[in-house]
Amino acid sequence: MDMTSVRRDLHRIPERGFQEFKTQQYLLHFIENLPQDRLQVKTWRTGILVLVQGESPSKTIGYRTDIDGLPIKEETGYEFQSEHDGYMHACGHDLHMTIALSILEYYATHRVKDNLLFVFQPAEEGPGGALPMLDSEEFKAWKPDQMMALHIAPEYPVGTIATRPGLLFANTSELFIDLTGKGGHAAYPHHTRDMVVAASHLVTQFQSIVARNVDPLDSAVVTVGKIDGGTKQNIIAEKARLEGTIRTLSADSMSKVKTRIEAMVRGIEASFECEASIDYGSNYYQVNNSPEHVQTFMDNMKRLSDVSLVECREAMTGEDFGYFLKEIPGFMFWLGVNSSSGLHTSTLKPDESAMETAYLALTSYLNEIAN
Ligand SMILES: [Zn+2]
Ligand SMILES: [Zn+2]
Repeated sequence: MDMTSVRRDLHRIPERGFQEFKTQQYLLHFIENLPQDRLQVKTWRTGILVLVQGESPSKTIGYRTDIDGLPIKEETGYEFQSEHDGYMHACGHDLHMTIALSILEYYATHRVKDNLLFVFQPAEEGPGGALPMLDSEEFKAWKPDQMMALHIAPEYPVGTIATRPGLLFANTSELFIDLTGKGGHAAYPHHTRDMVVAASHLVTQFQSIVARNVDPLDSAVVTVGKIDGGTKQNIIAEKARLEGTIRTLSADSMSKVKTRIEAMVRGIEASFECEASIDYGSNYYQVNNSPEHVQTFMDNMKRLSDVSLVECREAMTGEDFGYFLKEIPGFMFWLGVNSSSGLHTSTLKPDESAMETAYLALTSYLNEIAN
């Protein structure tokens, strides 16, 4: 297959989570044109599951790609830029899908002993497709014994594969807090309950959570990235909304941080006579690499002359693939794509030749463990 043209076709049609209808059609069309003798195909919502029947299977090995885009207006200047205004494949899922198709095509035409399951998962960026997919009858019927996935990494050069045993990605949670008080004239504060002041106190209090409640040998982030409140400079604000994110290295710290946030919000309600609600939005469980499986993969990568293997540190990014790894052992790795713009930016330009590195790496590893 021509990986570049498939990636560019997919790049043109980014869609948001659970709305990946054109993407699903494109993928199904590609899969239907492969030799069908050992393939079984099922759809689940906007996702797809493809089982490659092995010759004498003793296990099933799963490979997952995410398929959704992001609500970002593209500014790459690509001639194949997004045709969906305001949406972009700004997290590399177009490359992830193309790599999955290339491996699927290889095993549709080359012998393999074990079963392989290709998982095309919707809604990684939100609201989260991994958890409901894992619970679906379609997935359970073909549940693999081990699973893997990759993510592009702009900061590494092409040819680099980076991973580590144990924790790779953090626990993450969104954070939305709505405060409601009483608005009024700026010159009559005693008749109002000012939510700009309440929100300011809350943000300041949050700064002590990481400093004073989290074990210094653990790590966490509590960031409020956006505040909305008020209507005009001389009107006291009736409402304020805080939007942020929580990241922790341990699942334990995530619940501790949330407990502290809830206590502080209750305190703000009491001290500013207001009403508050908390919504955690999408929550992603940590990506924890099974040391045994990732070691076999890393040993295989060390033998490949086209791959430079890096044992990296864990990152505070989130990935809903963590839910798969909570139930099924396996691992995830970074694929270097050498882009000066990062993930989730409007100018992300991954080097397409990295897809070839992933193809070589994954077929080399699967030929070792599935044959
Ligand atoms: Zn992303
Ligand atoms: Zn992503």
